[in-house]
Amino acid sequence: MKAIKIIGLSLLLSCGIFAQNSRLQKPKLVVGIVVDQMRYDYLKRFDSKFGADGFKRLLNNGYVLNNAHFNYIPTYTAVGHTSIYTGTTPFYHGIISNNWYDKYLKKSIYCVDDDRYETVGAKKGGKKSPYRMLSTTVTDQLHLAQNMSGKTIGVSIKDRSAILPAGHTANAAYWFEGKKEGKFITSTFYMNKLPKWAIDFNKSGKVKKYLNTPWVTKYPIDTYTESIADDNKFEGLFKGEKSPIFPHNLAKLAKQNGGYDILKASPQGNALVEDFAEATILGENMGKGMFTDFLALSFSSTDYIGHKYGVDSKEVEDVYIRLDQEIADFLNFLDTQVGKDNYTVFLTADHAAVPVPSYLNSLKIPAGYIDVKALVKHISTIAINRFNSADIIENISNYQIFLNKDKIHKLGLDVNIVAQTLADELITFKGIYKTITAHTLQTTSFNRGILKFLQNGYNQKFSGDVLLIPMPATIAYGHTGTTHGTGYNYDTHVPLIFYGKGIKKGYSNSYYPIIDIAPTMATLLGVEFPNATSGKVITEVLK
Ligand SMILES: [Zn+2]
Repeated sequence: MKAIKIIGLSLLLSCGIFAQNSRLQKPKLVVGIVVDQMRYDYLKRFDSKFGADGFKRLLNNGYVLNNAHFNYIPTYTAVGHTSIYTGTTPFYHGIISNNWYDKYLKKSIYCVDDDRYETVGAKKGGKKSPYRMLSTTVTDQLHLAQNMSGKTIGVSIKDRSAILPAGHTANAAYWFEGKKEGKFITSTFYMNKLPKWAIDFNKSGKVKKYLNTPWVTKYPIDTYTESIADDNKFEGLFKGEKSPIFPHNLAKLAKQNGGYDILKASPQGNALVEDFAEATILGENMGKGMFTDFLALSFSSTDYIGHKYGVDSKEVEDVYIRLDQEIADFLNFLDTQVGKDNYTVFLTADHAAVPVPSYLNSLKIPAGYIDVKALVKHISTIAINRFNSADIIENISNYQIFLNKDKIHKLGLDVNIVAQTLADELITFKGIYKTITAHTLQTTSFNRGILKFLQNGYNQKFSGDVLLIPMPATIAYGHTGTTHGTGYNYDTHVPLIFYGKGIKKGYSNSYYPIIDIAPTMATLLGVEFPNATSGKVITEVLK
């Protein structure tokens, strides 16, 4: 009897010690950094312009995955952020685009809009929540594992890039409302009033200071030899500018370009987010408690600038040179505030982007544009010619056709035949490379390649009935600037670096899908995977 008691006691004691040790092993703070529209090759292309303490600190001391890719279509912002944090693709998590046609509500919706909530911190822009994301995130799992202790917070310029990564159980998500406000705001989904530190930040005059700082290149522009001439016909313009050249006088241009929204499309947007991230960590005392905190940070200005000026512009080069310095400042801040050995970081992107197709054309590389108006008209013409009704088409969006099933039944037609006919006839349309029906995606298991990516991005409950894939380097977009969304390498290949507590030093050139990030971080943290995870643990990065 006595002996058993002693054994029981020692077991309890050793369990207690074990639990304490395992808690001590965990980082006090995790920071997920997503750089919106960052191509993998920017790390190489701008290498000579980066300092020692930003990207290079992560590259030289962390674990670098040189072949990390998104593995679904469409490669858009909301889908990217969701897939990183849920460890799965739209097939399971349900965020099939930024905006999509909701076939139940019969209207187009935005991924994080939620009218049940109100704006906090400004007049408009905050009626948001993550409810359309159907699976949990690694941030949710951390919260569940810690019995809701520890803080998980999302910060970005874009609402969706703060809300979706922070998860359903987030303490907060903050994003930037531009226009006349120029403030970080949130939703009543999280809280009824901004914390004092956030109110102070909004009152600090920082935003105005950034607006009054003209955008000039960090270094002399003739040293930017990695990008094409500043004045070229492939770049978009701010309203009020006659050519796409430096300097960009933000204060002068603000009125015509959405007021404070103009900051989003300049490096100042990233500087502002970095300042706000530091304010968040200080204000919420993150990385100082008994439990692990998680900051989901996303830099969006790279995306706005990439869209406007394109992959090869001087503006893109400058925003990455400046982001490198923001990251250096942020890591230095973490060293001081949280302590060098107390935090873990991962850095990746939500998608990449294609070089401007008209620029590629000028170099004799096949590339082009899809005439969306002509495509919509063509689809309608097929419907009329083959089935005597344009009404059988309910919506066309995101390279998907949604059929009006009621109308098709009333006409005595077969949905599968209608869908297959559209797919067969649309293949000849200029710029369209593959067409496939939802029926085929539901009845065929693709193992690899672009049709597998389409299948990973396809959600039986929410996606359309006919899906189209454009030819390589072909976009439905204006002839200046660029976009993303496909399953081709230029959109899927992004940086992926793990750094800090619990992470080995090294690199790999093997292929990894981005959905492996969440289960890898869950393993590092000793928490359960997000509930619909289909990625796997990248064991080689973990100590
Ligand atoms: Zn994006």
